[in-house]
Amino acid sequence: MNHDTIAAISTAVGEGGIAVIRVSGPDAVGESAKLFRSKSKITEAESHTVHYGHIVDPKTGDTVEEIILTIMRGPRSFTAEDVVELSTHGGVVAVKRVLELLLREGTVRIAEPGEFTKRAFLNGRIDLTQAEAVIDLIRSKSDRAFSIAMKQSEGALSKRVKALRHTLIELLAHIEVNIDYPEHDVADMTSAFIKERCKEAEAEINKLLKTAREGKILREGIVTAIVGRPNVGKSSLLNALVQENKAIVTDIPGTTRDVIEEYVTLGGIPLRLLDTAGIRETSDVVERIGVERSRSALEEADLILFVLNVNEPLHPDDRLLMEQLRDRRVVILLNKTDLPTVLEIAELESVFAADSIVRLSVLQETGLDVLEGVISRMFFSGELETADLTYVSNVRHITLLGHTLQSLADAVEATDMGIPIDIVQIDVRTAWELLGELIGDSVSESLLDQIFSQFCLGK
Ligand code: GDP
Ligand code: ZN
Repeated sequence: MNHDTIAAISTAVGEGGIAVIRVSGPDAVGESAKLFRSKSKITEAESHTVHYGHIVDPKTGDTVEEIILTIMRGPRSFTAEDVVELSTHGGVVAVKRVLELLLREGTVRIAEPGEFTKRAFLNGRIDLTQAEAVIDLIRSKSDRAFSIAMKQSEGALSKRVKALRHTLIELLAHIEVNIDYPEHDVADMTSAFIKERCKEAEAEINKLLKTAREGKILREGIVTAIVGRPNVGKSSLLNALVQENKAIVTDIPGTTRDVIEEYVTLGGIPLRLLDTAGIRETSDVVERIGVERSRSALEEADLILFVLNVNEPLHPDDRLLMEQLRDRRVVILLNKTDLPTVLEIAELESVFAADSIVRLSVLQETGLDVLEGVISRMFFSGELETADLTYVSNVRHITLLGHTLQSLADAVEATDMGIPIDIVQIDVRTAWELLGELIGDSVSESLLDQIFSQFCLGK
């Protein structure tokens, strides 16, 4: 535990936005109380309580700021120490003034970059991957990215790495038993067992590495393909979402020749939108390039917006798409509801969940808010996330997982070569240690400093 108390402005000081000063350490409550005037006596206040009052300069008696003060007593706080958060809505000057008052007596000192998070880590409050998620949190721009970072922060990656380590420690125990009691004479079974377990671990690590791709979502959004037959309104939808006329909108079927990409935030969730040429067989060469691209866009998409025209009956191509999209994360968009409905909606409802079917008219700009709601619901319910719930987002993770994979491969190779299991054990142990390093179980002080120096002040 640290014996000094630190403080810093922990939110970006914007134009008129709320700014928070975070104070952490044994004197957090006491020092704040010296400046705080309110009905409640905060030195006696319970943990996780919120108080309204004013910051008063004890020397001059001047009221500096109107604030909301939150008390979180250790260990039930971010740093596991006593934490006080002072929220002000005044501008930069007021916030700095409050901070200066706090620091004036010398009991509280200004926090170093990343020091709050470092304390949380050192006090066993969070592990290293969670700490790193905080870095992503700081860097993430949209609400959606924020929530992914939160998920990791809650330890999704750590959980899987811990499970892996558990498997390996069991394996190590198993090997140990066989080294200690060789008379059991189960050597053959053991090497088969070691191989099997190592292969399992390898598969899991490969999965985690594959999700490194999903880690990009943080910056690039959910890859979303807009598909449907020509002229149903895909480009119009894209334009409506982007609110810029970047895609060419036209009445001539099949003129969206290429895949156009746009980045939008819908319901707080960043989407990378791909507008594709209509998915259909065609003899036109130029068109076909577009169609090929839309096929691959369809394959790589995390989310598919399938657009249909309610003013036309289902076309064989629609039924083909319905078949292809059956098990995908898809929103069915029934467009042109300003025109009479002839589309067999019941048939669509027999294939797709009712709450994934949205009626809209891009022309009249109705229903777009519903689409927004559906995407947001899908995301927050986890439906949109199966691939990237646990994701690997930084170079250190990827490197360590790569090394772990190598150690496991070495172990498998060694068993294949008939090398004694006490030697094989070394590779397994290395793999276990590398995973430990990933979640911060065995990190050196210098690595810690490297990681925490990446933080902004106040986190
Ligand atoms: P795409 O080929 O699927 O990309 O379709 P477009 O976006 O190019 O639209 C084809 C035509 O349908 C254009 O004339 C649009 O103005 C029109 N359109 C798009 N949305 C609507 C709608 O909601 N209602 C009506 N009546 N027409 C629409
Ligand atoms: Zn188009």
